[in-house]
Amino acid sequence: MGFDLNTGLESLKPDGEAWRSSAGQHYKLCRNTTEFGVCNWLVPEHDVQDYCPACRFNRTVPDQSKPDNRLLWWRMEQAKKRMLFGIYQLGLWPALGWTSADGLLFDFIEDGRSNWDFAETFVTTGFAGGIITLNILEANDVARKQAQEDMQERYRTLLGHFRHEVGHYFWGRFAENQAWLDRFRERFNDERGDYGQALETYYATGGDPKWYQKYISRYASAHPVEDWAESWAHYLHMMDALDTAHRQGFIRSDPFDADFDTKLRQWRSLSVALNELNRAVGHNDAYPFVIAEPIAKKLEFVHDTIAAANE
Ligand SMILES: [Zn+2]
Ligand SMILES: [Zn+2]
Repeated sequence: MGFDLNTGLESLKPDGEAWRSSAGQHYKLCRNTTEFGVCNWLVPEHDVQDYCPACRFNRTVPDQSKPDNRLLWWRMEQAKKRMLFGIYQLGLWPALGWTSADGLLFDFIEDGRSNWDFAETFVTTGFAGGIITLNILEANDVARKQAQEDMQERYRTLLGHFRHEVGHYFWGRFAENQAWLDRFRERFNDERGDYGQALETYYATGGDPKWYQKYISRYASAHPVEDWAESWAHYLHMMDALDTAHRQGFIRSDPFDADFDTKLRQWRSLSVALNELNRAVGHNDAYPFVIAEPIAKKLEFVHDTIAAANE
């Protein structure tokens, strides 16, 4: 089985040097499949690229001479690809700008906690200048859970990291349009204050104590652009969950055709059911968030922005 971005999962049979799908399409395997076994996306047979459309965005990958890194990288790729497929479904793939100088790139790196070659360093997840940096320790379940406890977070997942960070990438794209930026500031407040100072204050004080009235997460209260990245990530969570529920037959309407109010109503009831189901089998809530009205307005702004980008 392999994944084609345009047609979905394909079962494949070998055909000479290539692989053939049941519909007769010919593919080659991504170089990260043949060399490392960390990818399941396909490349059209005559594409000049060796890497699939998702692996092409990788700038730095974990050191594969260390055996443990293979599994961590594989998990990173799974989450990255789920995020990227969501971007594709929302019609935003071209804006990832793979061939452009300011397009998206990923650095998956290590620091002194997992690799003595980087003993003096401490790498945090983040976004700067088109590059999403993720510490591969986030793919280690114990390390991530420890970070979640230390930061007193309700939710911390690899997929959540990718969706949040790509939100920063898209913010930069949309903010090139002054009219959009004005509307953003009406909704999320002015982002031009000192970013470093805002985060320092957040980490010193723990943020707005009544954050849940206005923000989807505590961290969203740190700075308007963090609020955007969090809201963006939650819009992507909502769309993926609704799409999955639709495909599984739990809801009738296709979320990619539904208006915002319909989607929000469905997600509010579906997320409660999802949490109850998790409790029924002994897990914590899968979606430990409440979407208050001011937060819904921010999600609607994300929805409207994506709709406008598709016009
Ligand atoms: Zn690949
Ligand atoms: Zn952020």
